[in-house]
Formats: sequence, C-alpha cells, structure tokens
Amino acid sequence: MSDSATPDRADLHLHSTVSDGVLCPADLMAAVAAAGVAVCALTDHDSVAGLGEASIAARAHGLHLVPGIEVSVTHAGRTLHVVGLGIDAASPALTALLGRLDAAREERALAIAARLERHHLPGGDILAAIRGPPVLTRTHFARELVRRGLVADLGQAFKRWLGKGAPGYAPASWPSLGTVTDALRAASGVAVLAHPLRYTLSAGQRRELCRQFADAGGTATEVCVGGQNPAQREVATGLCLRAGLEGSVGSDCHDPALPWQRPGRLAKLPSAITPVWQRWPATAVDRAVSSTIRDAASLQCPT
Ligand code: AMP
Ligand code: MN
Ligand code: MN
Ligand code: MN
Repeated sequence: MSDSATPDRADLHLHSTVSDGVLCPADLMAAVAAAGVAVCALTDHDSVAGLGEASIAARAHGLHLVPGIEVSVTHAGRTLHVVGLGIDAASPALTALLGRLDAAREERALAIAARLERHHLPGGDILAAIRGPPVLTRTHFARELVRRGLVADLGQAFKRWLGKGAPGYAPASWPSLGTVTDALRAASGVAVLAHPLRYTLSAGQRRELCRQFADAGGTATEVCVGGQNPAQREVATGLCLRAGLEGSVGSDCHDPALPWQRPGRLAKLPSAITPVWQRWPATAVDRAVSSTIRDAASLQCPT
C-alpha cells in the first residue's frame, strides 16, 4: 500500500466556520496537516463555500484535499447525514440541491427562533446574533444559548432546547436519500453514509438502512469515526461489509482542541474493507505545488 493510502493518515470528515466548525478553512487545513494527516476532506454541512480557501491552504501544507460536503437528508422520518466526496463543487445538480437545503435551513431557523420565543427565550435576538456564517446550524443556536448563560454547555443546549423532542426543536424537511445520492453522483462524487451508529435505530434497522443506502447508489459508510470505542468500530465494520460498501474514516472534527475529535486521530480501517479514498491518491504534485504557494497572502483567514 502506498504511503498516501495509509489509513491512519486519512481524515475525510471535517468542519470549518463555513458551517459549525470553529476554525476557518485555512486554519483547519493547517491544523489537519500539523496532525500528520496526508489525505483529508472538508465536509461542511450543506455547503461547498469553504473549498476554495481550503484547497489553497491544503496545497501550501502538502495536504491532499478531497472536495467534500456533509448533506442533510430526511429518510423514513429521521435526519441522516450523507458525506459527499470527490465532488465537483460547480456542478449544476449540486448547486440546485444546495439551494433547496439553504431554503430548508432558513425556514427551520425561523421556526426554532419562534419556538424559543414561545418558551420565553429571546429566540429572535438569538437568531439575529448568530446570522453570518454561510450555513446556520443548531450548533450556532446552542453556542449562543451558552454565551448568554441560558444553559451551561452545548450538551445541555441540545438536551434542554434544541435536540429532538426538546421545546425548541423544529423538524426540517431535508431532501430525500435518493435525491441526495443522485445529486452527489451527478457532481462526479461518491456518497458516504456518515456516522452510521449515531442514528437511533435497532440493529436490524441499521442493517436495513445500510442496504437502502447501497441500493440508493451509496458507495461507502464511515467505519472509523472520532470518539469511537473498539466495540462500536466492530459493529460499524460488520455493517459496512454486510452491505458490500467501501469504508471511510473521519474525525467529524468541529474543534481540534477537543480531544475526542482531534483530526487524524482515528483507528486504521480493517484490512477487509476497501478504503473509499483509494480513488484519490495523494500525489507528489501536492507536495511540489505546496512549496510555491506556502507564503501566499490568500492563506489568511477572512477577519
Ligand atoms: P443541524 O444540521 O443544524 O441540525 O445541526 C446538527 C449539528 O449539531 C451536528 O452536526 C452536530 O455538530 C451538532 N449537535 C447535534 N447534537 C449535538 C449534541 N447533543 N451536542 C453537541 N452538538 C450536537
Ligand atoms: Mn455539525
Ligand atoms: Mn453529521
Ligand atoms: Mn459532521
């Protein structure tokens, strides 16, 4: 196996300030490179807006960036996350999908604010305060609730207000699984079922979901994810193999300072599983280009 395909040097699930990560794309790429990762993907929620900045920074650090996204899906009444990898960010099919997602997010943000108001929290003020990033997520609501001292931490913000079943929860109508896998494939990408163990499902339902995902044109499922224990990895391995899918690895890092989601700190993909990143081998070009643009002013994060 080539150096570029060494599993513990891939991290194909990362968030920047374009969605709910804490580092801008350039700083995130610097952190990912410093962590020893060779192949990475920026996968912001429902947006490709960080990919330009990330690709310049990745080259400067000799890091191979796979263009990615994490798309929200509504399937059988629940939200799923599908990571798209190797996508053409300019694809008209993807652009149309992102328009739908943006409208769904705007509608849901207004509904969350209204629900918080109904429960005597300043939902309108909170929404006004968090506007700015290309993609407005519940994490932004959660951080603002913490900042205002209305809850102790992010976990409490979701448990008390924003999580499913909580008073500020507003369901979103994301696109269907088939719509999303079709759009990702039309954008020359592959679809990866994100963190398959994170959905509230029985073991049988989870196997069925992976089968449906494969039937819908999905290519891979995440097998090694941040903060996972060996038993969970074994379950994820079984799901992947049984569904005949390839495997991916991703920290789902939103904040590199948090130990359980540090970039690149992932178990090796079991050898029985085909790594999804084999189709994007890092090349010497990444390293050669890097030396020419290392000091480019464009690497500065926007203030
Ligand atoms: P959204 O896509 O706007 O519904 O936001 C989903 C994001 O919220 C996820 O990607 C996580 O980053 C974050 N999130 C969901 N549940 C929790 C939780 N219990 N604690 C912290 N963050 C969470
Ligand atoms: Mn997130
Ligand atoms: Mn996710
Ligand atoms: Mn994620």
